[in-house]
Amino acid sequence: MFFSLTYSFTFFFILTSSSPSYIATFTPPATKISITSHNIQSLSNADKGAKMAGISQIKRYLHRFGYLQNNNNTFNDEFDVVLESALIRYQGNLGLQVTGKLDSNTVAQMITPRCGDPDTNTRPQNHDHNHVDNVRSSKNFVFFPGKPRWSRSMPMTLTYAFARENMIHSLSMKEIRVAFQRAFLRWASVIPVSFVEVSDSEVSDLKIGFYNGEHGDGEPFDGVLGVLAHSFSPEIGRLHLDEAETWAVDFQATASEVAVDLESVATHEIGHLLGLSHSSVKEAVMYPSLRPRDKRANLNIDDIKGVQSLYGSNPNFRSEWSLESDISANKDSNFVKPLRSSIVCLIKSVFTVVPLFYMSIFKAPTLD
Ligand SMILES: [Zn+2]
Ligand SMILES: [Zn+2]
Repeated sequence: MFFSLTYSFTFFFILTSSSPSYIATFTPPATKISITSHNIQSLSNADKGAKMAGISQIKRYLHRFGYLQNNNNTFNDEFDVVLESALIRYQGNLGLQVTGKLDSNTVAQMITPRCGDPDTNTRPQNHDHNHVDNVRSSKNFVFFPGKPRWSRSMPMTLTYAFARENMIHSLSMKEIRVAFQRAFLRWASVIPVSFVEVSDSEVSDLKIGFYNGEHGDGEPFDGVLGVLAHSFSPEIGRLHLDEAETWAVDFQATASEVAVDLESVATHEIGHLLGLSHSSVKEAVMYPSLRPRDKRANLNIDDIKGVQSLYGSNPNFRSEWSLESDISANKDSNFVKPLRSSIVCLIKSVFTVVPLFYMSIFKAPTLD
């Protein structure tokens, strides 16, 4: 295991349905709790009817990430039917086998560091159909409640800035800027939205900073690992990273076992700023957890379909997936198959002719 089995959750916030955006409510932080390796072993495979120490902490965790309602924020150690149904939703949302039990995979997922935004269930409905729904694979991307997005005419430009007084010193400003440039470019390459850095975070659309513990938005960070970062839905534009993490842009240069890839987390959090919530596809950038020393910064088809259903496609965007989608949409037409065959032949020819050409050049002197 790359990471400590002990970490803490200290958050509490509520979704409101009256606002188009995700609003964190400003309540005092809940009592700090921890899940230890001892708790985990004793809890493993617990199911309905069990009563054992540590279950209250599981309930607090599920409450923290949007699976359990509890107005007075107190939890007992009984494995009741409410916990079972919360576990079933959690397992479904995280792409785990749905058992309704605290099996080892579920507990392992719970101790994996993750994004602080809760998991929501606002999957696209049938009336959300558009061109991306022609694709054969099923939808797993999720929006925030109310499906908020930046509402400007297309193509749009969003400005971003770093809160200069809330930076870290373990990485240079240049390293941080490059990591974010790369993260923004990934999204910009698939939707008609571009991102421009400006110097003043007071006036920029998107505001990026590193914060420690309680930092004024009702979502205090929790120290090393646990919650890594959180962001707000459109059009709030705030992206906060936990200053206590060992942020890394190069794992060879950062040997720490708890190092966290800044670019991967930046790409995920920008997805939130654009309006995507958490996906159940483990390969997706919008999957909520990331292990230390792991990288997951390349957009998955699920991420692309999700963000394009909010903003449409970048006209320059072409991928294997979009080519497949075109072919699928035109599968009855007579020219698609020949066209595809021609492209394949052309590619094969290039791969055959070019090496032969070079071989002939390099062999020429030795022939004499
Ligand atoms: Zn997230
Ligand atoms: Zn924050």
